[in-house]
Amino acid sequence: MPAKTRVPAVEGWFTTEGDEPALLGTRCRSCGTYAFPRESYFCKNPACDGREFDDVALSRRGRVWSFTNNCYQPPPPFVPTSDPFEPFAIAAVELADEQLVVLGQMVPGTSVDDLKAGMDVELVVDTLFEDDEHEYLVWKWRLVETGAPA
Ligand SMILES: [Zn+2]
Repeated sequence: MPAKTRVPAVEGWFTTEGDEPALLGTRCRSCGTYAFPRESYFCKNPACDGREFDDVALSRRGRVWSFTNNCYQPPPPFVPTSDPFEPFAIAAVELADEQLVVLGQMVPGTSVDDLKAGMDVELVVDTLFEDDEHEYLVWKWRLVETGAPA
C-alpha cells in the first residue's frame, strides 16, 4: 500500500512546508492591515483604498478569544472522521502579531472543558478527513504547554 498523499483541504489558506505550518494571509501595502483569508481586491480597513497586497505567513501563536462546542454534525463538505459523530471544540484565536481572529478546530482530545479565554495556542496541521488515496489537511489549534508541573 503506497502512503496516502497529504493535500490541503482548502487551497492556499496555509502552508505545510517545513516543520512549522503557517496560515497564509495578506498585508495591505498602503496601510499594513492584515487579512485572513487572503485579500485580493479591497483592504479591510474602511479608511484605506489600497488595492495591492503582499502575501505573508501569519503568526503561529495566538490566544483563545472565544470558544464553543460543536455538538452537531456539520453539513457537507465537512466529512465526519468518527461515527457516531463526536463533538469537538472550536476556538476563535487572536493571532499574536496581527490581532486577527481566526477560527479553528481544536486538536482531538481538547474539549471546551480544557479551554479558557486567554490561553496560549499554536497552529498545527492535522487531518480533516481521508479517502482511499488522500489525507486532507486543515489547520487546528493546540494548547501550548505552559511548562507548569502537572
Ligand atoms: Zn489598507
